[in-house]
Amino acid sequence: MSDIRPLIAGNWKMNGSRAAMAEVSALAAAHPAPGCDVMLCPPAPLLPIMVEAASGTKIAVGAQDCHANVSGAHTGDTSATLIAELGATAVIVGHSERRADHGETDAAIAAKAAAAHQAGLIAIICIGETEAERDAGRALEVARSQLAGSLPAGATAANTVIAYEPVWAIGTGKVASVADIDEVHSALRTALADLMSAEDAAATRLLYGGSVKPGNAAEIFAVTDVNGALVGGASLKAADFGGIIAAA
Ligand code: PGA
Repeated sequence: MSDIRPLIAGNWKMNGSRAAMAEVSALAAAHPAPGCDVMLCPPAPLLPIMVEAASGTKIAVGAQDCHANVSGAHTGDTSATLIAELGATAVIVGHSERRADHGETDAAIAAKAAAAHQAGLIAIICIGETEAERDAGRALEVARSQLAGSLPAGATAANTVIAYEPVWAIGTGKVASVADIDEVHSALRTALADLMSAEDAAATRLLYGGSVKPGNAAEIFAVTDVNGALVGGASLKAADFGGIIAAA
């Protein structure tokens, strides 16, 4: 990891409840002054509840998706503006589960990220290849093309985080090798230089995601261009997530 302040973001996916706010309190109590930025992204209805639970702590709150429009006839969707109004500071866009379950394209994700920026939110843009794409030797090509297609104009190191999450490593217990993570992250760092200013490309946080646990976090964070993690399953329990925060 470089001198960029790392971000450890937890993606609760469709998990959590009011009762789970006890985990937020436990995490805050165990990590009053973390050496990295810490964020939790609950399901949308829990956003204001978690913002309240995290108030006065070092835990930031993010959403898991937003619509590209500010308002309108979009049943079931949530605008970035409302997410910001509720006190969240970031939103994940383009998670592979949304790409797969909701057919989200790179262009749709770029529009969502632009809406997030417009609302003053950090966009955490997810990219990553499937197992078939990796087996076909296309991992780098897919990561580069998703990056270029999903990054909106106006992206900076301050308003954008990139999460590299190989689809086959998400929720499977299979982690990409340190060599593979290193290869993709350094390619992404290089690719960013064509998409934003050199200064922003060097300072944009590149997270790794996919079965990150307390036991494997330290070796992943030792990779030069890894600036934190996007954590699914292990973010649900304060003890597990705290172990990853401690490794950052
Ligand atoms: P996982 O999920 O840590 O459970 O593999 C990561 C993610 O999908 O963000």
